[in-house]
Amino acid sequence: MTDIIQLLPDNIANQIAAGEVIQRPASAVKELLENAVDAGATEIQLIIADAGKSLIQVIDNGNGMSETDARMAFERHATSKIKVIEDLFKIKTMGFRGEALASIAAVAQVEMKTKKADDELGSFIEIENSLVLKQEPCAYSIGTSISMKNLFFNVPARRNFLKSNAAEMRHIVDEFIRVAMAFPQIFFSLTSNGQQVFYLEPGNLKQRIIQILGNNYNAKMVSVNEETDYMNIYGFVGKPETAKKTRGDQYFFVNSRFIKSAYLNHAVNSAFDNMIAKDSFPSYVLFIDLDPAQIDINVHPTKQEIKFEDEKIIYAFVQAAVKHALAQFSIAPSLDFTLNAEIQNLDAVSKPFTTEKKEAASSSNLFKTFTQKNQAHKIDPNEKSELKHWKDFFTSSEEKGDRIQNENKLIAKFDYEDGEQKNILSPKFYLLNSFLQLHNTYIIAATNNGFILVHQQLAHERILYEKYNVASHDQQMPAQKSLFPITLELATADAVLLEELLPELSVIGYQIEPFGSNTFVIQASPADVLQGNEKHSIELLIEQFKHFSSDIKFSKREKLIRCISRQQAIKAGQTLSQKEMQILIEDLFKCITPNSTASGAPTYLEFKEDYLDRMFGK
Ligand code: ADP
Ligand code: MG
Repeated sequence: MTDIIQLLPDNIANQIAAGEVIQRPASAVKELLENAVDAGATEIQLIIADAGKSLIQVIDNGNGMSETDARMAFERHATSKIKVIEDLFKIKTMGFRGEALASIAAVAQVEMKTKKADDELGSFIEIENSLVLKQEPCAYSIGTSISMKNLFFNVPARRNFLKSNAAEMRHIVDEFIRVAMAFPQIFFSLTSNGQQVFYLEPGNLKQRIIQILGNNYNAKMVSVNEETDYMNIYGFVGKPETAKKTRGDQYFFVNSRFIKSAYLNHAVNSAFDNMIAKDSFPSYVLFIDLDPAQIDINVHPTKQEIKFEDEKIIYAFVQAAVKHALAQFSIAPSLDFTLNAEIQNLDAVSKPFTTEKKEAASSSNLFKTFTQKNQAHKIDPNEKSELKHWKDFFTSSEEKGDRIQNENKLIAKFDYEDGEQKNILSPKFYLLNSFLQLHNTYIIAATNNGFILVHQQLAHERILYEKYNVASHDQQMPAQKSLFPITLELATADAVLLEELLPELSVIGYQIEPFGSNTFVIQASPADVLQGNEKHSIELLIEQFKHFSSDIKFSKREKLIRCISRQQAIKAGQTLSQKEMQILIEDLFKCITPNSTASGAPTYLEFKEDYLDRMFGK
């Protein structure tokens, strides 16, 4: 026996393939909803039990399937959406890979009922582990109902990998919203454990946005609408006042498919330039429709990232369309450009993009600067650089310090080495009891051999971060009871998120109780939260957490602690008394890592006497 290669049995091959398509309950939800949309349904119901772990059911009133198709649909690479490879470049449907149902059948127990309008009887089919257990005719109204039970029942490793119900439910809600937002003319409902979460009557896009994102968007949206031969863009951007401190309500759809694109997001942001604060994010729901041949949706298995044939045009177009919309509604000062002409006349739009042009573009300097990553930041270690001198500044004599120590009241002494990192900047200095606040933002504190310049907000952020960090590991934070219980009403997606965060929040001092239908009652908050500010602090926390939540590097607790310490830190602009400055600086240097915030911003800079001397040529 020397031959060792075997073909994998179908069910195993399918299970492996399924790993790409179905990562969690939400991925199945997305695929099933998209199938229902593709089938031309006008009403789609999603029913969830146990965050999709025990049941995901989608009922639609679409085309339905014939008896043979019902069976075929579950085969791998079975699709009615492409027949020849050229079709791939004309895709107008959500699905096309023919993998979703096969994948679902490989990792769950599936039952489907389906009937076409003209057929007398429908079909019932039961599949599990890629094996058809039963297929028989049945009575059914028009459309399809697919239910998948016990996801990953046969792949325990994956099942164990699933997150808490609250976390999985949040992913499901995200996917549901993305599909429902893209098709406002379709009725959608979502029921979870028997409770209605969404009930979205068909309507126009504006109505759908308000149904999903909340009524506070009413009258705060500006419509975007531009048409060219190359592409159309339509939808809404929030007026500048709806901008959020975090990337909250931002939706981009290309040919009705939700996509994530940092590049296009940047285009919208730049259109808001000077209208919103630098560190805030505009809200938008924008649709781009263009010839499917101009995009490649195939690059990502879950189809959330796409490649455009010519990104630069799309960027310019999106930016111009948003600017135009803002100008029209006299939100931005009127801008003197005529969008349609500008875009229409671009060579790239009016003429086909040839290979020569492609080459010309990629050999341009601009292109090279973008592609030679990190070049601008590279520091040549052999180069004579300012950096070298830094080393000297931090190894200066200690005698001077001892002398001054006797002359002044010593408030703290620091002498630590950063064990893990080889840090040439490990400070050694004494702080003297004398502070000066500059621009209500910086504190100058004299040391034995120079001074340090502390950023009050960043320093406080570090202090709170370590405080909450200790609390979350050792003991609970002291909480203060609210004078009156405060009710908090949230948008559905936010409510689902808050529900998920409740256990962690209680550790750091928040006592919040669910009160049904997206309402919560705040009973207590951490002692650092100002009375009267409790509600706002939670809303802010949710916003910030969402900003963070795509970052898988950090645990939920870490993200929360970072958010809350940033939020509660005293802000730049606040006047501090001598005593407050002293306490702040003392607390800072009691920290394990006083020199930077959790996200890496420096909390203080040190200026050494001999450095100062040198600057003055002494
Ligand atoms: P794809 O959507 O990529 O074609 P799927 O595995 O999701 O692949 O579905 C396979 C086929 O089954 C689809 O092409 C479609 O013909 C049929 N199908 C799936 N879901 C439905 C549905 N809800 N109603 C009607 N037909 C469906
Ligand atoms: Mg599909």
